[in-house]
Amino acid sequence: MTNEELWKAVLGEMELSLSRATFITWFKNTVIIARDRNSVVVSVPNGFIKEWLENKFNKKILQSIRTLSPEVREVKYAVGRPKPETLKHDISKVILEKELEEKSTPADDQDIDSVTNLNKRYSFESFIVGSNNELAHAASQGVTKSPGRMYNPLFLYGGVGLGKTHLLHAIGNKLFSENRARRVLYTSAERFTVDIVEAIRNKTIEEFKNNCSKLDLLMIDDIQFIAAKEKTQEIVFSVFNELYGKNKQIILSSDRPPQAIAALEERLRSRFQGGMIADIGIPDYETRLAILRAKCNLKNQSFEDDVLSYIATHIQKNVREIEGALNRVIAFSQIYNRVPDVKEVKNILNAYLTTPYRKTSPQTILKSVADFYSISINDLLKRSRKKEVVKPRQIAMFLLREETKLSFPEIGQKLGGRDHSTVIHACEKIRGESAGDEPLKQELVLIKERVYNSLDR
Ligand code: ADP
Ligand code: MG
Repeated sequence: MTNEELWKAVLGEMELSLSRATFITWFKNTVIIARDRNSVVVSVPNGFIKEWLENKFNKKILQSIRTLSPEVREVKYAVGRPKPETLKHDISKVILEKELEEKSTPADDQDIDSVTNLNKRYSFESFIVGSNNELAHAASQGVTKSPGRMYNPLFLYGGVGLGKTHLLHAIGNKLFSENRARRVLYTSAERFTVDIVEAIRNKTIEEFKNNCSKLDLLMIDDIQFIAAKEKTQEIVFSVFNELYGKNKQIILSSDRPPQAIAALEERLRSRFQGGMIADIGIPDYETRLAILRAKCNLKNQSFEDDVLSYIATHIQKNVREIEGALNRVIAFSQIYNRVPDVKEVKNILNAYLTTPYRKTSPQTILKSVADFYSISINDLLKRSRKKEVVKPRQIAMFLLREETKLSFPEIGQKLGGRDHSTVIHACEKIRGESAGDEPLKQELVLIKERVYNSLDR
């Protein structure tokens, strides 16, 4: 039986037990990429799906495989590149595809250490220091000089794509490379939550806590996700106290300062505030330019100053987007085998800035939905279960998912701190219903018109 046949059989079986929408959500673009006597490797499009398959579906998948291939003991999931389609003539599509390809592999698996979860790509050497991140950088370096002593916990906060995750990994990499015996763990709050839920279900939560308490360095990224998750907060609290009491270093990152994380227990908030808090802001023009130069060096690319300065002038708020723009320009130069001039860069970035993903913002979507249904944005965010707000809220979640690049948890956060499972449910529901329901389909079209024609975006 070929890999393809085997996987097709598994998918057939999975499809029977799931709704169509769920099935598509989790199994689209999955494929067996390797197989030996005892194990099978399945390629999946992104880390989120990998996590879900590992945690929710692995048992079923394995069972299903074993009915056909009983010697298989294990299924592994790897984030893989979707195969680029045959070359299109539309240059902006080609560039977009190339870019998506890079995005879907934010870190190659071989860059990530399987024990510490550290990504080798993120180092202090590749981090550009500017006035926006000076303090966060200095504090991070301080931690590497005397872990557990100087700044404990270290709490870094700032907007999306400004380098928090980069700094966390840089600290971890430095400390781990200095001393390989150090027990270092990088995790995201989302991942941590999933692990905790899993450990509770498997009755291994004491073991889990025990393992955490043996760490020398624990880093939890995007800690704001534990808001409103009581059990997770309880475990974080207990692990925090264990480690802190032994002068072991704890580092947290968040998109906002501790006092602004709603639905966080007071005892945790006060602990998060008890060490060093440093924010990261938006880089100024010089820093943006320096970051671009550094990324070019890393990728062995060189462009005229006016090209880089065009990017630095037009993309300001998010280093990840700056990198995305640079990647587009690099894609262009690879496809055409020459360096673009400023005029071409302008065209490339125009297309970049006006792809559907770029055209809108979460705020615009919320406002458009609220306006359309004559309710307030606040109605969308608050807890009310009234029929008049529940449906608009689900539609808002669905559109945020379709029209922006926000993840399910980020969408939950934007809609008043809801759980990502609520968002997933809403998106599936609206997607499913809109397939058959003409009025709903029509409504979605009208709301999208508002979204893309609104002036305040
Ligand atoms: P955050 O975690 O704050 O959302 P990341 O750490 O993921 O942001 O950063 C997004 C991208 O921008 C990463 O590829 C990172 O390497 C890059 N980046 C951010 N700040 C800097 C910087 N000061 N120097 C170099 N690269 C940076
Ligand atoms: Mg991050």
